[in-house]
Amino acid sequence: MSTQSMTSNSSRDGKDLKEPTPFYEALAKALKKRKINIETVCPSSDPVSRRILEEYGAIFVADKKVIPPPVCVFTTEEQVTKFQEAAGFEAEFMSYDEVELQPAALKSLKKAREEAQKEGLDITPRDGAEAGRRNYEDSVRLWNSRFEPALDYWLSQGRLTLEQVTRLRGLPLSQQVAEVLELEKTGIYFSKDLSKSILYSIAAPGASQHIAMLAFDVNEFDNPRIREIMGKHGWFQTVLSDLPHFTYLGLKEKDLPKHGLRSLEINGQVFWIPNVPGVHPGLDK
Ligand SMILES: [Zn+2]
Repeated sequence: MSTQSMTSNSSRDGKDLKEPTPFYEALAKALKKRKINIETVCPSSDPVSRRILEEYGAIFVADKKVIPPPVCVFTTEEQVTKFQEAAGFEAEFMSYDEVELQPAALKSLKKAREEAQKEGLDITPRDGAEAGRRNYEDSVRLWNSRFEPALDYWLSQGRLTLEQVTRLRGLPLSQQVAEVLELEKTGIYFSKDLSKSILYSIAAPGASQHIAMLAFDVNEFDNPRIREIMGKHGWFQTVLSDLPHFTYLGLKEKDLPKHGLRSLEINGQVFWIPNVPGVHPGLDK
C-alpha cells in the first residue's frame, strides 16, 4: 500500500481541502448505519468484485435517502428485479423519453433541470430511456457491445488466437470479466477505442450504477454550468472517463472527502472517485 505517496486533494479553485477519508473507512461506517456487512456486499475473496467496488463504489457511500444495491455485482435478472422493486423507482418524461430512477434521485434531477431551464439551458437524457434505469440484460448487452468488437480486433492484430477468442466467448460472465481485466494488464484493452480499460467505457455486467437506478447520462455534460447545477443537486461524475455519466449521491460537494471520495480533475472535469491509493495508475498525479 502506498498511502504515503498520496498527494493532497486539491480543489478546482486551488484551495487545499482536507485530506479525504480512506474509502474503506468511510464505507465501513456507511454500511454499518445500514446494518450491512461489506463481506456480503463485496467479498474480499473476489478480486473482480473488489475492483468494481473501487471503480464504481461511490454509490455505497451515498446519502441515506437512497438505497445502494445489496451486492457489488448482480448475477441474475431476478436478483436485479427484486432489488429494483424493493428500492422503488419513479418515472419522468424528459424531452422524448421516459427516465426511471430512485425517487430521491429523480426528484433532485427534476430540480436541477428546472434550474437549468430557468437559465435557458437544459438537461436531457443521452440515448433515450437507457440514460436512467437499466436491467440486468441491458448491462450484458452493453458489455458485449465492447467485448465482441475488441475480441475481433485483437484477433485481427494477432494478439489473441482464435482458440483464445472462442474460449473467452464461451466463459461464464463472471469469469469473462476476470479474464478481460487480466488481459488488460498486458495492454489488450477492451474499451470502445481499445486504449483503456473496458470499465471506463462500460460497466461490468450486473455492476452498473444504472442498475442501482442512481445514474443518469446527460447530453449536456460538456457545459461547465450544467455540471455545476448537477453538483448543486447532489449529482456528481464518479466514473473516470465516462463523461456523460452522473451519479446521484445526494451529498454536498464539500462533504464528499469525508465520505471517502477524492477529486481528480481530467480535462477540466472533476471526478469524485473512491479514495483507494493505487487503483488508477497513471492517472494519479
Ligand atoms: Zn451511464
